[in-house]
Amino acid sequence: MKEIRKILEKYYGYKDFRPGQEKIISNILNKKDLLAVMPTGAGKSICFQIPALLLDGVTLVVSPLVSLMKDQVDALSSVGIKAAFLNSTLDTNEFNEVLYGLKNNEYKMIYIAPERLDSRVFLDTINSISISQIAIDEAHCVSQWGHDFRVSYRKIGDFIESFTARPVITAFTATASQEVQKDIVKLLRLRDPEVFVSGFDRENLEINVIKEGRKDRFLKEYLKKNSQASGIIYCATRKEVNSIYEDVKALGYSACKYHAGLSDKERKEYQDLFIKDKKNIMVATNAFGMGIDKPNVRFVIHNNMPQSIEGYYQEIGRAGRDGEKSECILLFTPGDIHMQKYLIDVGLKSEDRKAIAYKKLQEMVALVHSSGCYRKFILNYFGEELKEDCNNCSNCLSDGEEQDRTIDAQKVLSCIGRMKRGYGATILVDVLRGSKNQKIISLDFNNISTYGIMKDYKKDDLVGFINTLISHGFMEQVEGTYPILRLNPLSVKVLKGEEKVIFKNIKVKDTSFDYSDLFNKLKALRFNIATEQKVPPYVVFGDRTLKEMSNDYPLTKEQMLEISGVGEMKYEKYGEAFIKVIAEYVSTNNIVKGPKIEVEKKLPSNFNVSTDENLYLKLRELREKFAAKESKIPYSIISQNTLKEISGRYPINLADLKDITGLGPKKVETYGKKIINLVKAYVEEKNIEVNWSERNKLKLVIDGEDRKNEEIAISMLEEGHHIKKISLDIEVSVSSILGYVTDYIKETGDVSFNLNLKEFYEEEEEEVILKACNKIGIDKVSDIKKTLNPSINYQAIRAVILKNFYNIA
Ligand code: ADP
Repeated sequence: MKEIRKILEKYYGYKDFRPGQEKIISNILNKKDLLAVMPTGAGKSICFQIPALLLDGVTLVVSPLVSLMKDQVDALSSVGIKAAFLNSTLDTNEFNEVLYGLKNNEYKMIYIAPERLDSRVFLDTINSISISQIAIDEAHCVSQWGHDFRVSYRKIGDFIESFTARPVITAFTATASQEVQKDIVKLLRLRDPEVFVSGFDRENLEINVIKEGRKDRFLKEYLKKNSQASGIIYCATRKEVNSIYEDVKALGYSACKYHAGLSDKERKEYQDLFIKDKKNIMVATNAFGMGIDKPNVRFVIHNNMPQSIEGYYQEIGRAGRDGEKSECILLFTPGDIHMQKYLIDVGLKSEDRKAIAYKKLQEMVALVHSSGCYRKFILNYFGEELKEDCNNCSNCLSDGEEQDRTIDAQKVLSCIGRMKRGYGATILVDVLRGSKNQKIISLDFNNISTYGIMKDYKKDDLVGFINTLISHGFMEQVEGTYPILRLNPLSVKVLKGEEKVIFKNIKVKDTSFDYSDLFNKLKALRFNIATEQKVPPYVVFGDRTLKEMSNDYPLTKEQMLEISGVGEMKYEKYGEAFIKVIAEYVSTNNIVKGPKIEVEKKLPSNFNVSTDENLYLKLRELREKFAAKESKIPYSIISQNTLKEISGRYPINLADLKDITGLGPKKVETYGKKIINLVKAYVEEKNIEVNWSERNKLKLVIDGEDRKNEEIAISMLEEGHHIKKISLDIEVSVSSILGYVTDYIKETGDVSFNLNLKEFYEEEEEEVILKACNKIGIDKVSDIKKTLNPSINYQAIRAVILKNFYNIA
């Protein structure tokens, strides 16, 4: 274990493993087959690279990403790991040279395209040497159920079988439904593999869905604010890529493009410009992105809604691989649904696959229309529960100014009603604006009472407003050869004045990804080194590393090695050049280095709050009232820790309230005033002098408790408390606690709890749940739940799994 940490530090310059990495690595070192499903950016590569260094023999990495292999090998070489690649870009001489090196023990790792696996000379060569591991990257490509099926991946199974001394086989992917996981295990012929599925949440990605306004205007304003950052704009069709690419270029930004209609050469060139930070905006179809290692993509904008949640999550996953805050913005108009249906219809031949694609599209549409936390919705879709709202998506954060558009909506809706037969948006807009065009006159629409009642509106604004009405479900767009507009029950309510139409003015986000002066200087140095060495800048150092340098001003080797991302090897290569730039900066700006940083590090890291019991009880009563009104469980509205924090900090205006953990703008909007009034009355009555201070990202500790709910629950179980008591005490559902127990056992293997699981399910439920588990697997509880009678709850499913698969009595 110590040894793998040393390697992490020496070669990669990282101080700690990311979740899961250590466990996966030791699993591989024990020669056990493995399937790891981890989201993009979680750090899969290190998981097979470190074992490659430690095992005797060579590791083969099968990857579909021919155009990126050189970068991957360059990245390895930059940290001193000997590697090479074999693919169609090599000529015969180069190919033979690598094989020669392989025979002579020159490499620890070889990247290979699956198409090359049956090359006779290659097979002869590897038969003569020792292969320790075969790692299959992007393993979902083997499955027809995945969205990137590659026929050549089907060769891998036979290839593996051909070994007399079978190496350990490891498979990695970022997206795999249960079906895909099963396919991977079967088709790659993994033997009794350890399946490792890590959490899918990417906390650093802010998820935004914008259903209002015009896409082109949004894009223009957004780019104006973020012109320095790297970003991807995804479009649904090649035609749209071409047109947005031209627009973005015309606005003066440095852009490139990517779609299947370009030649291999063009695609490679554009991809290279983007990866090497020579152009910072990529306009592309979904053909772009698989395996792109560029870690500093700060935004991903979808100019259209994608076809599936899987596709969407994978595409936004390309943002923020370095763990830094990044933005994902989906620009939606109802026409997107129509277009995607059309693309499925013409793109897929088999009726079965069409049916699957339509179903996935429907789920994507449901996500766009949902009014709750988007992250919760997505994670739920992948079978993960997010207990609290994320406070980092546009539904949680929406704080645009509200506008009552009921009267405008009534005008539009009553016009549709009066036009009788269904028509499309273009004719509707013409009627509302009082157009004299021949078609309108011939249909006699100039004589209906709504003719011209919105003539003051610009055409584009009216189209935008109509789209927004459809996006929010106030009317329907029925698809056909031409989509037509129809009223629905909600339209009728609006027309009768029973339902208001309130839209928020969504502003272009104010965030801009600008960095400090020193950061930009270091970035320029990195760019020059990278260009000279013909490698992508991230191979030199990642943005995160540069940011740390620009904050900490390391001036010696020792200080440099403290920076995350600087290991011995990288220090030898680049350390001094960077120190020189930092030293210059420090001296010209008179920065006193050293003590300042030490002092900063010693600042308190906790924000301590003590509950005011009397106020806390009053707040609980208030929460009861909210809950009764909405027929919800109190803690699902506001958690008890949030109430405790309020009671100990006394927020007396809405701005203060926003600093309380667990209260996003939406909750502040709904419950804020009542909470504030209660607190105000209380502090006045008790004559409490309020000294408000902001939390400033410090760790919140309430009444000395700094453990998470998971840890509290486990230690209470260990102390012998009943699970129901724990649930009441910490206000977490029994099913979530059973989830904590499952995670704990997975992590530690410790099954010493005394739990009476039988009380959480009926006897006859056990058999059906077990059947479902055997069919679907046990990792995604929500997938199991979907197949069962709705009366069977999560708690029953989790209890049955714990009892039968984790051997808890
Ligand atoms: P994935 O293949 O899972 O999408 P990568 O292997 O490309 O992810 O890793 C994503 C980024 O995270 C890379 O820049 C990598 O160097 C970095 N990384 C990986 N492991 C760690 C770690 N333990 N600490 C810090 N950064 C890490």
